[in-house]
Amino acid sequence: MNRREFLGAAALATASVTTAPAAPNVPWYRRALRWGQTNITERDPARYDIPFWRDFWKRTAIQGVIINAGGIVAYYPSKFPLHHRAELLNGRDLYGELASAAHQDGLAVLARMDCSRAAEDFFQAHPDWFARHADGSPYRADDKYTTCVNSAYYDEYIPGILEEIIQRSHPEGFADNSWSGLTRNNICYCDNCARKFRDRASQSLPPRKNWDDPVYRRWIQWNYARRTEIWDHFNHVTRAAGGPECLWLGMNSGSITSQSNSFRDFSEIARRSEFLLLDHQSRSDATGFQQNGDTGKLVHGLLGWDKPIIESMALYQPRVAAKPTAEAQMWMVEGIAGGIGPWWHIVGAAPEDRRMFRTPERVFQWHRANDEYLTNRRPLAAVGIVWSQRNTDYFGRDDAAELVEAPYRGWTQALLRARIPYLPVNLADVGTRMDQFAALILPNLGAMEANEAEAIRVFASRGGAVIATGATSLYDEEGGARSDFALSDLFGAHAPSPDFGRRRPEQAHTYLRVSNRHAILKGLEDTDIIPFGSTLAEMRIDPGVTVPLTYVPPFPVFPPESAWMRTPKTEIPGVILKGRTAYLPAPIDALYAHSNLPDHGNLLANLVRWAAGDRIGFELQGTGLIDCHVYTQPGRTIVHLVNLTNEAAWRGPMDEFIPVGPLTMRLRTAAARSATCLVSGAKLPVIVKQGWATLEIPRVVDHEVVIL
Ligand SMILES: [Zn+2]
Repeated sequence: MNRREFLGAAALATASVTTAPAAPNVPWYRRALRWGQTNITERDPARYDIPFWRDFWKRTAIQGVIINAGGIVAYYPSKFPLHHRAELLNGRDLYGELASAAHQDGLAVLARMDCSRAAEDFFQAHPDWFARHADGSPYRADDKYTTCVNSAYYDEYIPGILEEIIQRSHPEGFADNSWSGLTRNNICYCDNCARKFRDRASQSLPPRKNWDDPVYRRWIQWNYARRTEIWDHFNHVTRAAGGPECLWLGMNSGSITSQSNSFRDFSEIARRSEFLLLDHQSRSDATGFQQNGDTGKLVHGLLGWDKPIIESMALYQPRVAAKPTAEAQMWMVEGIAGGIGPWWHIVGAAPEDRRMFRTPERVFQWHRANDEYLTNRRPLAAVGIVWSQRNTDYFGRDDAAELVEAPYRGWTQALLRARIPYLPVNLADVGTRMDQFAALILPNLGAMEANEAEAIRVFASRGGAVIATGATSLYDEEGGARSDFALSDLFGAHAPSPDFGRRRPEQAHTYLRVSNRHAILKGLEDTDIIPFGSTLAEMRIDPGVTVPLTYVPPFPVFPPESAWMRTPKTEIPGVILKGRTAYLPAPIDALYAHSNLPDHGNLLANLVRWAAGDRIGFELQGTGLIDCHVYTQPGRTIVHLVNLTNEAAWRGPMDEFIPVGPLTMRLRTAAARSATCLVSGAKLPVIVKQGWATLEIPRVVDHEVVIL
């Protein structure tokens, strides 16, 4: 078979996959890509119009539904007397009726639970199942009481509910909205917790939050282990009662800081789950739509690209009014571009703002027509941005937003703007994934085990480029300060003091001076200085390193007469280059996340181009802010361009699309004569020269998927 025949055969094979009915032996969690959820309020049992929603399930081409079943509120006549019935349930089995309708329509059903709290009568009957403050008073959540993860409520009561629901309606699985109990900011002092912690750690519960106390760190680890144990326990229960494919799935956040705060060990959860539910409903002004694409790639990096992720995507803003279509659609599109399956989410069964029905119909129908290109693919990127949940916990502690998230976001923002495809890489996976990348970025990655630092060193010794910032490798895996960077040999630089790292960038009127005209300063030929905005300490560097930028210390801004540099030049390095490694004492990444200065973004992008060079293999020219995702499937390359150029540039929600184009795309790929656009439907000519394919995309409205 020659290459052309092979490509033809591949195209034929995929075509037959889309037209053939799903193979019956494929489990539901591999088949159901699109989901819907009408989150049922306590009033809805009296007004739920099942035929209307069945029609909407069809119109949105969903393959699974999430239906409220039990936990805080029961939507069926439960045999457990304290299982609080929905206020207007009136003996109706609304959950059961919906589950049966969904099954008749060929949809998978996830029974929705929420085991985080219970009402007053429940608390009075089982006072030992609830979380307690140090003074013995119960933790409250509005008018309810917070259940304790270490009590029989989790060990016995909830399993009984799961079994009851399975016996009544045979759902494909369960979705638990809020399963992981109290967050990290609250220590539970109930008798169960006191006893279990003593059994495990031979110590009393920590008296208060104190990251420097080994007992507190032990408590953190003990809490993580308990959540993972709950995941296993509930899955054991559902599989025993409902068969091996009856999965219990707790919701997870798309934010690592939030996962840490909830003691959800993302790697452990991803390792043991066949399917992942994200509760990550909308963008923030700080992180933008692109954060959803990043989340998809980050979580697939843990889960693998064969297992599906779906994400609850809010159609409302606020709770019961429609989110502007452009805003809702763009969040969905970025999620899909990052490999997330769409899941529309509406609160209340009788929406009075019918505009919210528009968005999913359009996006989900497009997804159905093209899902063979949107799933079962592998991402292509020569650049990895390294993260770790332990770093969020033990380096970030209570300031992870500034110490961990901001530097990471600064890099993603710079690469997005420069149209350089990248992938998030878990630090623990660097050892097994290093051949995939030309460059690895370590954004202020303070906490690092010795063997993780060694993996980075091996990556560098095999020709990989390393770009690190701030406190990277200055702390051990529990956040204890080292006397110097574990990677100081690689950096050619030495930490000025053990507390060098765990500081937010200080606001200061400072600059960086060009001290060596290096390739990383491309575009800065007409200036000798760039803004900096924080402070830098003296730092010992090894002989032979290159220092392209040095620090200019603070001087007055006001009055203008006094705005002159008192010390125009120092030897304090802002950027240090050694071989193929760049180390930045200057927190340019975190600063870029906050102040968005093009000089900072360009410097970060230049560093990556210098480090990864030709191996980036992708270029896009033309105006606009465009997120570029590149994937491969056998015989083809898939480029997903998301047009983030919009009128809500200064703040959401977005209400109008602004088309961009023409765009010239170049990518390194095997022979391709033409390209197909999955959104516009256009067929585009492709010119291939020396292994690079070039094509022109006339126009992109919200997004475009180009198949080569
Ligand atoms: Zn407790």
